[in-house]
Amino acid sequence: MNRDRLYIGGRWVAPSSDETIAVENPATEEILGHVPAGTAGDVDRAVAAARAAFDGWAATSMAERGAVLGKLHEALSARAADIARTVGLELGTPIKIAKAVQAGLPLAVLRGYADLAAQPVREETIGNSLVVREPVGVVGAITPWNYPLHQVVAKVAAALAAGCTVVLKPSELTPLTAYLLFDAADEAGLPEGVLNLVPGTGPVVGAAIAGHPDVDMVSFTGSTATGRAISHAAADRIARVALELGGKSANVILEDADVTKAVKVGVGNAFLNSGQTCTAWTRMLVHRSHYDTAVELAGSVAQAFVTGDPFDEATRLGPLVSAAQRERVRGFIERADARLVAGAAPVPEKGYFVAPTVFADVDPDSELAQEEIFGPVLSIIPFDDDDHAVRIANNSRYGLAGGVWGSPERALAVARRMRTGAVDVNGGAFNPLAPFGGYKQSGIGRELGVHGLEEFQQTKAIQQ
Ligand code: NAD
Repeated sequence: MNRDRLYIGGRWVAPSSDETIAVENPATEEILGHVPAGTAGDVDRAVAAARAAFDGWAATSMAERGAVLGKLHEALSARAADIARTVGLELGTPIKIAKAVQAGLPLAVLRGYADLAAQPVREETIGNSLVVREPVGVVGAITPWNYPLHQVVAKVAAALAAGCTVVLKPSELTPLTAYLLFDAADEAGLPEGVLNLVPGTGPVVGAAIAGHPDVDMVSFTGSTATGRAISHAAADRIARVALELGGKSANVILEDADVTKAVKVGVGNAFLNSGQTCTAWTRMLVHRSHYDTAVELAGSVAQAFVTGDPFDEATRLGPLVSAAQRERVRGFIERADARLVAGAAPVPEKGYFVAPTVFADVDPDSELAQEEIFGPVLSIIPFDDDDHAVRIANNSRYGLAGGVWGSPERALAVARRMRTGAVDVNGGAFNPLAPFGGYKQSGIGRELGVHGLEEFQQTKAIQQ
């Protein structure tokens, strides 16, 4: 699965250095292939191509751009099986979930932006002002490995629809999936320079994008620590930054909840993608009257998770993405000062697997309850009443997502009090057209749907 080119100015071009990055299969520990390790010089070339393409692309109508996104969607849809397989290989997502989420979600998001662009353009009149929206300019997009195509498409589709041009650096752990998007872009005939790919490491290619004087906006998804570094780099030239960062979301199970459903769905949510999901409900908050039942059920649901080969249709829990990530997660488990309810299930010896793990009686201020673990580790915490639940839920430096279970009115009232960018009431389904993003240290800005589009637009008032 070797790839040896960058995509710049509408064609596959040779990188400026011979250095490469090895891509590993985390389920087998084998090397799948290599991609170029881009350089700051490669970023210069890509940004120059994006800059050269900007005026022409920005001058097209939203509907024309929508039509191009429609063609891209068609070309990418034809690769759906390849996308699921590639994510299964380089990330280890179980194939069933890889098909439904890792391939299905970005295709839905891309289709959504093609359709949104076909809608009449929104312009407002305020008194004697005509308020218009224009593209921000050249966007640098930097993405992580846990949803390697969705996180790319969420930025690229919105930015292109808005009329921006883009330089993408995907995660060095999962770059092969991103290449499939560029195969599709090449086939769909995107105008040259509107979408460019420079794979490489964060400190080299990522930092060069974040600090580039000709990048007007940096759109980043990843850890809060890297988000901070990117903000510092962009601040020097007052470049716009959009950040989608970490989370430590609470799943609140109220006194009048359907406890069985809330616990089953809650455990599934916490362990989706081996717990490597920024919105994962990693803290389960349970009303004291249901606490013992919930703890017992969560333990048995976790034990029943089938861990193993991502390409076995029965597998629900694949490996973690890397040896480093497994060691990090094991560290949290070893240091935990709480009651272990599940965690001893056997896992394959080869590959970076961690058994589904559940802790009860977790102190809301402890490391387990405060740090984003990014592995299959669930913490259960009791509460006494709704106010207490809200206090614990909001006792986090993050504010990305959450869940509430209970009678609809009461659950909605609690959802409104949670300081997070999203809350699902009684298992409300993920909506790819709804705004997605964080409060507090979970980020700045919103992705997806019309709110995601507006992140990539400037607002101009024309007085007449
Ligand atoms: P990371 O921050 O290490 O890496 C993300 C990207 O940033 C990668 O492409 C990496 O190469 C690049 N990068 C690293 N150092 C850089 C630097 N100094 N300058 C510029 N770029 C740099 O994060 P990760 O380990 O890939 O992903 C896991 C994290 O991402 C978790 O904390 C998770 O919660 C978060 N995440 C958030 C969301 C969200 O939407 N809020 C979605 C997915 C993941």
